[in-house]
Amino acid sequence: MLPAPVLIFDIDTLRADHLGCYGYERPTSPRIDALARESYRFQWAFSQAPDTGPSQSSIFTGLYPSTHGLNYNGARLPDSITTLAEVFVEAGYRTAAFVDGGFMRPEFNIHQGFEHYETYDWQGLDVIGPRVIDWLEKHANEDFLLLVHTYDVHADYKSPEPFRSLFTGGMTPTPGFEPSVKQLEVIRRSQWTDQPLQLNAADLAFAEARYDGGIRFADYWVGRILDKVQALGLDQRATIVLLSDHGEAFQEHGTVQHDRLYAPVTRIPLLIRPPGGTQSAVIESVVQAMDIMPTLLEGAGLEVPPNLQGRSLLPLLRGEKARELPAFSEAPSFGQQRAIVLGDHHLIGALQNDRIELFDFRRDPLELRDISTENPQVVNELYNLAKQWQDSLNRRGGPEAEVPLLGEEVLKSLQALGYLND
Ligand SMILES: [Zn+2]
Repeated sequence: MLPAPVLIFDIDTLRADHLGCYGYERPTSPRIDALARESYRFQWAFSQAPDTGPSQSSIFTGLYPSTHGLNYNGARLPDSITTLAEVFVEAGYRTAAFVDGGFMRPEFNIHQGFEHYETYDWQGLDVIGPRVIDWLEKHANEDFLLLVHTYDVHADYKSPEPFRSLFTGGMTPTPGFEPSVKQLEVIRRSQWTDQPLQLNAADLAFAEARYDGGIRFADYWVGRILDKVQALGLDQRATIVLLSDHGEAFQEHGTVQHDRLYAPVTRIPLLIRPPGGTQSAVIESVVQAMDIMPTLLEGAGLEVPPNLQGRSLLPLLRGEKARELPAFSEAPSFGQQRAIVLGDHHLIGALQNDRIELFDFRRDPLELRDISTENPQVVNELYNLAKQWQDSLNRRGGPEAEVPLLGEEVLKSLQALGYLND
């Protein structure tokens, strides 16, 4: 149903609800919206972690972070873990990835299974896009798995003009304010102190408008690559997936960037376009980012490794009534946060304290109203399910997190971005 070739657009930090096809009011995404009209669009897909390394590793392994072992940014994915690309390459497919560096660099071992892996240092689609188009021209008649990853949407929200200023007209941020990782990290890290800082309303609106300009820029390049896909006839032959590894917070819960499990961060876009673009639907069931690996393997007729924790989405694509299953996420921040999504509810708690919050994410997608006190029964039910899940993860265990040996160059580039200072 979803044969190879497979093309995955992995737009790091892209919030679902900032896309037109998910109801956003700004025109951030005309080309992605057009893709969505020819795709299965998952309305409620949740990532397994709020940060790049753990979440991307879940997408490409079908496993929760505590199981695959890369459970914090800066850890290394163990060699023993089987990735999506490894299954494809072993089955004889060509595998290639064009990624934007940072925690996608090969030092973190997420490149396992890609025969061809080009990594760029936050240079974005202006550099990556032409390389992808060139690769497609050379391999259009082959069967392949191709990954395109970019940080164009990530802070510093600094896409090229005219995109950067597309939505900032008339805004008056504080002189000198830039929504850079460096400046935003000061706000994010202050949440651990007894004097948490906030952006003022003008700076926050400016940051969000610049973020939206980045989405429009990524959308422009998705469109250019899709034009090439069509010109090569691959739109009739290829399965196209668009997703992200997590969203971005704009102080809905006091902070910025992405380190907690609220829906603005863990709800991601997920589009799957089968070849031909004639089948489409909006799917309301809760699904997980890590379901994409078993879905693509089963869709291509490849063997799904045993013990994957994601499940194939093919029954949902076929319109079968599947049993409602929960989605889970994990985060090392704020007392080891854990979250479960089931039905209409998102329960977020921490292993290291008693604070529990409950949201009706379908009616309150920003999760601004905690309804835990009015719904003790739901809290109890979801808490018990989350506990069983945590117990099963603990029983299963996982490889010890490995620490990569990072060269000076990698350390410097991550530090320059404000990372690895924890
Ligand atoms: Zn990310």
